[in-house]
Amino acid sequence: MLSPAVTGESQLVSLDSTNQPGGSGSPLFGLNQQALAARMAAIGEPGWRGKQLTEAIYRQRLTDLNEITTLPKPLRRRIAAEGWQVGRPSIVQVFQSVDGTERYLVKAGEQTVETVWMPEGDDGEAGDGSDSTDSRVPQVSTLRPGITIKLGAPDPSHLGTRDSDESQPGTGHHSTGAVGGNRFRATICVSSQVGCAVNCQFCLTAKLGLQRNLTAGEIAGQVISVFDRHAVEVGRDRVNLVFMGMGEPFLNFANFMAAVRLLVEEVGLSPRRMTVSTSGIVPGIERFAQESPEVRPKLAISLNAPNDRIREEIMPINRKWPIEAVMDAVRQVQLRPRERITFEYVLLAGITDQPEHAREVARLVRRTGLPAKVNLIAWNPGPGIAYTMPQPEAVEKFRATLAGEGIPTYLRKPRGRDIYAACGQLKRTVEG
Ligand code: SAH
Ligand code: SF4
Repeated sequence: MLSPAVTGESQLVSLDSTNQPGGSGSPLFGLNQQALAARMAAIGEPGWRGKQLTEAIYRQRLTDLNEITTLPKPLRRRIAAEGWQVGRPSIVQVFQSVDGTERYLVKAGEQTVETVWMPEGDDGEAGDGSDSTDSRVPQVSTLRPGITIKLGAPDPSHLGTRDSDESQPGTGHHSTGAVGGNRFRATICVSSQVGCAVNCQFCLTAKLGLQRNLTAGEIAGQVISVFDRHAVEVGRDRVNLVFMGMGEPFLNFANFMAAVRLLVEEVGLSPRRMTVSTSGIVPGIERFAQESPEVRPKLAISLNAPNDRIREEIMPINRKWPIEAVMDAVRQVQLRPRERITFEYVLLAGITDQPEHAREVARLVRRTGLPAKVNLIAWNPGPGIAYTMPQPEAVEKFRATLAGEGIPTYLRKPRGRDIYAACGQLKRTVEG
């Protein structure tokens, strides 16, 4: 059954309205420089105060108005008295995996959403494997599974993975507590909605249904809060962002793109280090195709099946937008040099993991004419979902068959399964 949110255009439009903070008591975090300048202008301050606020909130990552010493003290007092607040979403709980992955509950209003930190990435979304195959990368220290730790400064022993032989002197105060100013390699998986309306049969997030869209500040805030926790230095550390957490980013398009713009324009991240994954929301892909390559992340499509018949069964949304319609939309995206479209493919035992499926996927991908690669994901189990994990031999055979057909194929490492942080497992599982 299609869930109501994906059966009608009107529903789609209502899901997509921007949800930006407005009044004077609302958070500053989430507003871009222009909007911050307008806030300042409205209280009779010069527009360049907007730039000072931008620097403080997004570059210095300050969370308290009082710390923004570039603003004169009386002004700080005045805006605080008027109810202004930075209002950045904060991490309220941390679950740590034996493999170094951390899953966070990040406060968004009255609810929490999930964000995942994966030192070294998952072999999938550097995309071409360049992120994590470097044997020089030291392993993170051993962690006990499922520990919930208190808030506060992270313990440097599990900050993440740093490239020890590419050390550069750490400069800013954010490098304190990190190991000798070396570079990080990590991937952050970001949520775009609380829950999801799309109802893919194999996904735990689907069980929540859609609760609400996140604002741009709540989406970008997940990234900045995790940057803070791991003392990430923008421009030095190699952190990839994947918009593959809870929710369907293209059913919250305006807020999702506003968050990306904040991360690119105000925080200083490269959109080439970001990948957004969609289940195939055609109007969303078409809007995405209109975005400038200066801010547009890379695109991943959750293909997950070799044909419409199987896809329809596991992803009811396929009845609204079948594979060919999705591919037509994807072809409208103007790719940058060397950029490829990622097709994600979840292997479900007996349903999508047979060698004939791999050959069919190869034909399908070739037919699209797109420069593409396939990221295989062995299905991660979840309570109440009646699928079976594929056998390792089936996964390997599938990979080899697809690669043998000449399709660049990567196998995504399951990260943080023990703490419910792996793909499709995000459901605010507080037990860890
Ligand atoms: N809603 C978006 C992005 C979040 S899901 C989308 O569907 O693309 C991110 C990826 O996890 C998708 O490719 C999805 O197919 C995959 N996924 C969902 N549940 C999974 C599970 N239980 N095991 C493995 N992968 C899963
Ligand atoms: Fe939503 Fe993606 Fe899960 Fe499908 S796989 S239900 S689109 S989060």
